[in-house]
Amino acid sequence: MSIFKKNKKTPEKREWNITEKCLKLIFECAKDSHPKEFGGLLRVNEKDKNLIEELVLLPGTISGDSHAIFRLHMMPIDYTIVGTVHSHPGPIARPSDADLALFRKHGKIHIISAYPYNLDSWNAYDYDGEEIKIRYI
Ligand code: ZN
Repeated sequence: MSIFKKNKKTPEKREWNITEKCLKLIFECAKDSHPKEFGGLLRVNEKDKNLIEELVLLPGTISGDSHAIFRLHMMPIDYTIVGTVHSHPGPIARPSDADLALFRKHGKIHIISAYPYNLDSWNAYDYDGEEIKIRYI
């Protein structure tokens, strides 16, 4: 019986992928909101749960000069939603303390798209703020 077997040294690492289309849409939304932040949620494919393919914009998400505020009580109960995305109008795609608090509470994967919102200025983090790699396909 292997279903309960756990390897403590190497916890299961999911291999995340994101569609190029979804990533481009994130960059577009970030550019549109600039110099304010934008925030949204990440949704995976129903069959391939490691493939992020949709950006969900929350109704009532506030973008502000300092930080995107996620109204997560409005978050739909939807298990294809795996995490969050938001933009940083500055060049640093590192999570702030507020971001880390958000990451710990909501979801497994979090993308930050920093200015100038392109393929060289985004990063993904796990719930603990550890950087993780996402392949775009
Ligand atoms: Zn942030």
